[in-house]
Amino acid sequence: MDFYSLMKDELVRAMPERDCCRVAELSALLIADGVIRTSEGRVCIVVSETHAGVARKVVSLIRDLERPALERPGVEVSVRNRKRKGAPRGNLYVVRMVNHDEAVDLLDRLGLARQDGLVRGVEPRVVARRCCKRAYIRGIFLGAGYVTDPSRGYHLEMAILGLEHAQYICGLLAEFGIRARVVPRRGRSVVYLKDGDDIVEMLRVMQASSALLELENARILRSIRGDVNRLVNAENANLGKTVDASLDQIRNIQLIDDVMGIRRLPPALAAAASLRLENPEASLAELGAMLSPPVSKSGVNHRMRRIARIADDIRLTNRRER
Ligand SMILES: [Zn+2]
Repeated sequence: MDFYSLMKDELVRAMPERDCCRVAELSALLIADGVIRTSEGRVCIVVSETHAGVARKVVSLIRDLERPALERPGVEVSVRNRKRKGAPRGNLYVVRMVNHDEAVDLLDRLGLARQDGLVRGVEPRVVARRCCKRAYIRGIFLGAGYVTDPSRGYHLEMAILGLEHAQYICGLLAEFGIRARVVPRRGRSVVYLKDGDDIVEMLRVMQASSALLELENARILRSIRGDVNRLVNAENANLGKTVDASLDQIRNIQLIDDVMGIRRLPPALAAAASLRLENPEASLAELGAMLSPPVSKSGVNHRMRRIARIADDIRLTNRRER
């Protein structure tokens, strides 16, 4: 099993023992992955998940928190499995809570909505204790997170809707000594960690102990293999450079896309640009291999420099027009 799946399975199994933490984790899961709909004045909670375990966890958390309400006749929480047409990962699990009053009570308890509407931001009482902050971070990762296999390098990210919420999560991580940064990507604000120590700490905070062991083993293997510190530092530095360069390229491409649309670039540049958006972690050589026909690392580099020049021109024009 790959590292990401192992970690996700472990986090799904980690059920909070206290109600305060159940509230925090469920609140985070709904913010990260849920939709609160109103139809004909009735509130309906919908959580869509490609991972069955996460969908089941949402249901268990709702059941644990709202047992008395769920025993009332006519109240329903269910998981449905839907096949998506043309979706890369076939299954979609949908959790629904359709009963208006119970849904409103639950959202109120989770700090997401009141009788008079949705709440903006995170209510402090939801993450008042340190145990709840851990549960909250776990919920966000489960709903919106991804981690790279440690044998390929260190990268963990959470794609958040809304810059304010992303910055809030960075602040929460900082309370545990974890350094995170935010970068925009396709309408989301991506909170990311690229330092091995920070990722280790993040796993500790979320109580993913098997994944933590796995990661530590991978790190030890890497350092035994080569000239211990020199190698590890060099690899970290290289990975850091790749990620920084990729972020610059993504910023350029998004700017071009906003102003004129990627499709109006020459075809060779458009192909490289859309591959970069889809593969933010790939190195230039990897991007080159994905192009058809394949292009060398320096060929991709050349295209990225032409894209950077176009983006610079746009910035210059914008400044002049101001
Ligand atoms: Zn708690």
